Amino acid sequence: MRIVVLAGGIGGARFLLGVRAYAREVGAEVTAVVNVGDDLYLHGLKICPDLDSVMYTLGGGADPERGWGRFDETWTVKTELAAYGAEPTWFGLGDRDVATHLVRTSMITGGYPLSAVTEALATRWQPGVRLLPATDDRLETHAVVDLDGGQRAIHFQEWWIRYRADVPTDRFVFVGADAAKPAPGVVEALGTADLVLVAPSNPVVSIAPVLAVPGLREAVAGSPARVVGVSPIIGGAPVRGMADRCLAVLGVACSAEGVGRLYGGRRSGGLLDGWLVAPEDEGVTVPDVSVRAVPLWMTDEVATAGMVRAAVELAELA
Ligand code: GDP
Ligand code: CA
Repeated sequence: MRIVVLAGGIGGARFLLGVRAYAREVGAEVTAVVNVGDDLYLHGLKICPDLDSVMYTLGGGADPERGWGRFDETWTVKTELAAYGAEPTWFGLGDRDVATHLVRTSMITGGYPLSAVTEALATRWQPGVRLLPATDDRLETHAVVDLDGGQRAIHFQEWWIRYRADVPTDRFVFVGADAAKPAPGVVEALGTADLVLVAPSNPVVSIAPVLAVPGLREAVAGSPARVVGVSPIIGGAPVRGMADRCLAVLGVACSAEGVGRLYGGRRSGGLLDGWLVAPEDEGVTVPDVSVRAVPLWMTDEVATAGMVRAAVELAELA
């Protein structure tokens, strides 16, 4: 069996732990197609927050409390940069993490595409799944906000971390998406998949930018596999993070039904054949989508693998 997972950062990473556990049990191959909309250059370094969350988590190097970055982290570089007054100061740049960004930036500067860089970094971390960026091209999520009496676009990371998503926001734009191409391997993986899973990632700023790469949504729509999504919203609230604020920008209800309907049914031009919601959300309906309620708390790998098993069962029914 071949499984492709569309994923963002922390939610995507935790879900992938369960996908990997399930895949080991049944002998499946896993490809993760990861959001790059959060990527940015800071202090001359190319940083890929979602790819790193996935790589560190699957490689056993993530900080489980924070959810992002390395465990046993120190912050000397960040403190020293602040002593120079070097902006921005709001981004968490740990010392161990900086080594990853240095290696990545050297390779990118040397002409390697992000997909090749990701593969090279993964030889250290051995994530056990194939990690692919959605695209090798520049695609950045920006928020169009009202600030200082005018409207301007700021990078998603600035919106999320510096402003805590708490600034009047008109919309999100995926800068560069028009000219982006799926990274090598992405369309092929979708074309030969037996199951496509949409991780319980942020639908607005993790999954939407993946699908904004021209050809990628079409590759999912045309895949021979069933597409099953997992709700990141349980009982009307995101499990962690500020997905509610992102959904509000789109005018979408922060509910399992709201997100399911935002994705839409594949038979009616949307994304999904199946939609897993939590027992708290039993009874949710999405036109043309098979909905099933199962526990969706990713408390550990065993629980998360159980969610994946439920998705496989639903795919066969859908
Ligand atoms: P980010 O890029 O680091 O923000 O991570 P993602 O976009 O991949 O995932 C963020 C989403 O994961 C949030 O909207 C959370 O609601 C969701 N999430 C986190 N933990 C859980 C969990 O245990 N169960 C479910 N169903 N969703 C979760
Ligand atoms: Ca992210």
